Amino acid sequence: MTAEIPRLLCVDIQDRVAAADGLVARLVALLHGPAARVVLTTSFGLEDQVLTHAAVEAMKQTGRTIEFATLDTGRLFPQTHDVWAATERRYRLRIACLSPDAADLAGLVAAQGIGGYRESVDNRKTCCAVRKIEPLRRALHGADLWITGLRSDQSQARATTPFAAWDADFGVVKVSPLADWSRDEVAQFAQDNRVPVNVLHAHGFLSIGCAPCTRAVAPDEPERAGRWWWEDESRKECGLHSHPMPPAFASVALGAT
Ligand code: SF4
Repeated sequence: MTAEIPRLLCVDIQDRVAAADGLVARLVALLHGPAARVVLTTSFGLEDQVLTHAAVEAMKQTGRTIEFATLDTGRLFPQTHDVWAATERRYRLRIACLSPDAADLAGLVAAQGIGGYRESVDNRKTCCAVRKIEPLRRALHGADLWITGLRSDQSQARATTPFAAWDADFGVVKVSPLADWSRDEVAQFAQDNRVPVNVLHAHGFLSIGCAPCTRAVAPDEPERAGRWWWEDESRKECGLHSHPMPPAFASVALGAT
């Protein structure tokens, strides 16, 4: 794909999402676009649950398909598996499960041990690469649009999250329909629509990933403070969402036209 095609697609999506009234309408607008294959990845956090609900409604309205995929890292909380099952039941969905490559996982554990991710940032990023990034690459292979639950006020690193951006690493247009929503707005949508949510949210786990790398946060702490809390704030992404936008896409940002 030449750089011009995704740039035009990003601008088109930006306009469609910005003009849509409400979250379901945003998803419908995406499905009315030219993208053939649309994948929503979920970790069953609050944002992903709300997006799944809206995506199901949008599929009903358009007759189009959105594929749902999750990365089962092997280190998830049992409560995350519970909400995964509840989501499949509620929406009559099957969510594709991408697991780490068995040989890569054996090599990782042989090289750094089962707890090596705590010993250095490099080790932690290697663990995330094996357990998350490589499976995500498989989930997104051949996709045109990747729907994510990123919000711009989740952290400093996500402050400039656009509605749409070309992700050169995964070769896909990444769409963040919740980019301009607050956590309160997401929670209200979940409550209004009786969306199943992870019970850990009620115990201070605002952002939920792998069990050994997630803790509850205090009321005055930032939302993502419980992720890799032993590391510098500025380095706390796992690589799924840390790819900088090429300069050509810098103008495709929130509120830009
Ligand atoms: S979040 Fe922790 S356990 Fe999960 S893949 Fe990354 S380093 Fe490994």
